[in-house]
Amino acid sequence: MLPGVTSTRLGADRCPGLLTPFVAQDGAIIRLRIPGGRVHVSTLAELLAIGTDFGAPMLAVTSRTNLQVRGLPDPLPQEVMVRAEATGLLPSSTHERARNILAAPRAPELGPLVAELDAALCADPVLADLPGRFLFAVSDATGSVLTEPFDVAYQALTPTTGVLRVGGLGMPCARADAVAHLLERARLFLQHRAGPRVWNIRDLPADSPVLRGLEPMPVDAAAPLVPGPIGDDLVAGIPLAMLRADHLTALARVTNAVVITPWRSVVIPGGARFAQELGDAGFSVTATDPWARLSACSGAPWCARTSSPTMELALAAAPSLRPSGPRIHLVGCERACGAPTLDHVLVVDPRSVDDVVTADGVSDR
Ligand code: SF4
Repeated sequence: MLPGVTSTRLGADRCPGLLTPFVAQDGAIIRLRIPGGRVHVSTLAELLAIGTDFGAPMLAVTSRTNLQVRGLPDPLPQEVMVRAEATGLLPSSTHERARNILAAPRAPELGPLVAELDAALCADPVLADLPGRFLFAVSDATGSVLTEPFDVAYQALTPTTGVLRVGGLGMPCARADAVAHLLERARLFLQHRAGPRVWNIRDLPADSPVLRGLEPMPVDAAAPLVPGPIGDDLVAGIPLAMLRADHLTALARVTNAVVITPWRSVVIPGGARFAQELGDAGFSVTATDPWARLSACSGAPWCARTSSPTMELALAAAPSLRPSGPRIHLVGCERACGAPTLDHVLVVDPRSVDDVVTADGVSDR
């Protein structure tokens, strides 16, 4: 295992796609990949409309900057397939689950690199076998998104130079060679992993050929973006990572496109002046908003593994949280789905608002 890595997650890879939905307690879940996170608001609206027409009237954003619709009939109606494909988010039927590419959300100059990586990934038949958990990342000199559990990343330090990274290892890499090197490590991973139930490079032994030529190179990652204005832009937090109709109506009034972040938020380029309006529509637009640090897994009634209504409890507890405090993540069981990568208090199987407020360190309500 790689140095500093303490856990392995071996088992069935059930990451959903459009062509391979996962059937949960409330119906089928489909996931659409958004390499780099940039998406048109009209596309978000169409996916929400699919959920509204056939399943749950909400659109989830995931920590890999993908989009998810749930509560759909199983098997999927033909109209769902047709409408989802019409969004243009399924350029490859063979590689849909392999297209997990994070990019620094405030670095539009990385767009061409993301597109190049995505195209080359989809053009290689071998890489269709990448697990849905395998994660590429592309960052700028700030190290944004390198807090996330990437398998292989490219960090651009200048327009022509950068670093190829695998965990805490790395090597210098020219921008012109970045895509080739990223994909070569992915191919080596497929070639040298012990079997299809090994999902990530961090699960490989430290002497794996996948790590050949890499030297210790600590990651200096920028902290995740928090809700609020940054210069002219706005980071708009999404409570419980669920976009609803009110959110999209407000977004459509101020922008054509947003960039999904891995942190339950979207970046709205030039959106700082709309903070009040978007806050009124239900986005979190200040760092002291409870939703800047409160999150939950799906929980009951969506997930069969628990009877704890994690989301409902989060909604009920949010107004009682202090202006500042620890990140809190509610989960229905030890699987801890969606747990933040940064320090947080994990509340397992909560049963009441008090369980959440206690975790916040408030005991004198
Ligand atoms: S943490 Fe447990 S209860 Fe929550 S979504 Fe994951 S499996 Fe379900």
